[in-house]
Amino acid sequence: MIDGSTGVVIINPDPETIYRYRERAEVYRKYQDSIMAFGLLPAVTSDGNRSVRITANIELVDEISLAVNHGAEGVGLFRTEYLFLGRSDLPSEEEQYAIYKRIVEANAPNPVTIRTLDVGGDKLSAHFRVSHETNPAMGLRAIRLCLSRVDLFKTQLRAILRAASHGTCRLLIPMVSCIKELTATKEILGQAAEELAAKGIPHAPRIKIGVLVEVPSAVAIADLLAREVDFFSIGTNDLIQYAMAIDRVNEQVNYLYDTLHPAVLRLIRQVTVAAQARGIEVAMCGEMAGDPVNVPILIGLGIDELSMNALAIPLVKKLVRSVTVEECVELTRQAFDMQDAESIRALLENWLRERFPGDYFIDHS
Ligand code: PEP
Ligand code: MG
Repeated sequence: MIDGSTGVVIINPDPETIYRYRERAEVYRKYQDSIMAFGLLPAVTSDGNRSVRITANIELVDEISLAVNHGAEGVGLFRTEYLFLGRSDLPSEEEQYAIYKRIVEANAPNPVTIRTLDVGGDKLSAHFRVSHETNPAMGLRAIRLCLSRVDLFKTQLRAILRAASHGTCRLLIPMVSCIKELTATKEILGQAAEELAAKGIPHAPRIKIGVLVEVPSAVAIADLLAREVDFFSIGTNDLIQYAMAIDRVNEQVNYLYDTLHPAVLRLIRQVTVAAQARGIEVAMCGEMAGDPVNVPILIGLGIDELSMNALAIPLVKKLVRSVTVEECVELTRQAFDMQDAESIRALLENWLRERFPGDYFIDHS
């Protein structure tokens, strides 16, 4: 039996445990049903001062209907690597185009953010593993790998440019750590567009381009990156790993992995400040975006879009609609005064409990 809310696996559960968990599953189902309606409403704060776009993270084309049913206003992160993994050949431009087009059309006019291939590290595939790496998370992965395989990268960019002519599509570049990677990407994107134009193949003449901010060096130069892109999306899953120097798949150092670590919050703030100074949008697509506990701070920092697992959308929308920007800013101010993640978590949980009794915590006992 798997308890997905706590990550606990129970082997050979006794009848009493099964009964208890069935009851809890039922309570959870009823709770989910009761909040489903919020998915269809816009995520505007109760004072009407801020609208947050709530989008879905998807990995497979079949997940679109789940995302739409739960109220996603587009796709904030389409992880394209699943098209490439678990097979011995590479997907062709036509195959990729057909899939991207389906996703873009199903969401139109809402935007779909397509992340270019992010393999390497914990996402390995036989035909990408060029040579053994002692430290794959810091190795030839994501944009680094794409820039070393221009043929493969350009094929994907052509497919995305073609799909972009069927709706609203944005390009998201993973693991950018310096401006040079962005310049090289734009050059290859330009070549891809020229090739399509030369062949008379319909495609979007221009596509919004964004950086997935997930490496601390990208945060440090966020002011410079902001001049080069249309938007940022903060990838907290990796950002926490690289900022805290903890391998995200190493259980022994898991205890250090905390979205509310003051360092993580400061990194996020640095990104939002740089984006706001330049007038570009900033999204968040790491797991942090879908946890209601974090939402008041993310509003307080001025994040424009939260992209998450579809199932999390109704609850997050409900919360956004219940708070004011002023109280979120005040809570954020208090959180930035605290020294550790535990105190910040206690602050946020207590605030939620007092402000919305019984609403945001399902009793797990
Ligand atoms: C992230 O790193 O936060 C992210 C969104 O990407 P992934 O989890 O696929 O690395
Ligand atoms: Mg990542």
